[in-house]
Amino acid sequence: MDFTGQKAIVTGATRGIGRAIAEALLARGAVVIGVYGGNDEAAERFRQECGQGVDRLFLHKVDVSDYQAAQSFYAVMEEQFDTIDILVNNAGIRRDAVVAMMKEENWRRVLDINLTGGFNMSRFVIPLMMKQKYGRILFITSPMAHLGFPGQANYAASKAGQVGLMKSLSKEVAKRGITVNCVSPGFIATELIEDLTVDQIKQYKRMVPVRRFGRPEEVAEAVLFLAGRKAAYITGSVLDITGGL
Ligand code: NAP
Repeated sequence: MDFTGQKAIVTGATRGIGRAIAEALLARGAVVIGVYGGNDEAAERFRQECGQGVDRLFLHKVDVSDYQAAQSFYAVMEEQFDTIDILVNNAGIRRDAVVAMMKEENWRRVLDINLTGGFNMSRFVIPLMMKQKYGRILFITSPMAHLGFPGQANYAASKAGQVGLMKSLSKEVAKRGITVNCVSPGFIATELIEDLTVDQIKQYKRMVPVRRFGRPEEVAEAVLFLAGRKAAYITGSVLDITGGL
């Protein structure tokens, strides 16, 4: 897969799955605009370690949950790049608690970043993609959208919401050469799940038929497939990368 000349926005690009997606796109020739939330150290580390392709990497600190910030970011994008070919809505957080103990701010923050963030970032890219009658929009959802583990009501709701958003949006833009899909990774070894206890890790690995957690690069390959020109007839889909979960 060759992405030379294509411009891709990846949110949450500086750590974990997003970083693997950004690296895979850079390795195949894309210009990557990586968005992150606030961890400048991780962003700088990514820039320093990214090696070949660093001249095609542009990092922007944008809180995806902030509508105005997303709008301002796209004003810069339009000026600098004219158009955008790929958007990967990957930025996400967890703030776990059972519903009876959940703070309202943790309900809201998870929904604001994971779900509204995807809306904000898609909202302003669509007019750019419509102009060129081409685009690939991806959401990184989760099997929690339908499994709903206890303590993850906010996260599960945000991930289920992403699927609904993706489904509607895919139908709105299909005629314009824009595809919209979800990739749904299972347990992937990143900082997002580094708070799991040893017992939880054992228990969750037993639940996964391939008996291990996935690697960010294994998710990135699936994202690149759906982001490629040849995936033109795949839209409105959810692709599981779960080791059979
Ligand atoms: P991660 O390692 O914690 O990285 C999260 C990334 O999102 C960071 O780059 C972070 O930037 C960025 N981010 C957080 N809040 C943001 C905001 N308000 N605005 C912009 N960027 C923001 O997470 P991950 O495991 O790679 O997860 C990536 C996506 O995959 C998430 O949507 C997650 O729900 C989904 N997912 C993960 C797993 C898993 O097991 N890891 C499984 C299924 C789905 P800063 O560093 O600046 O905060």
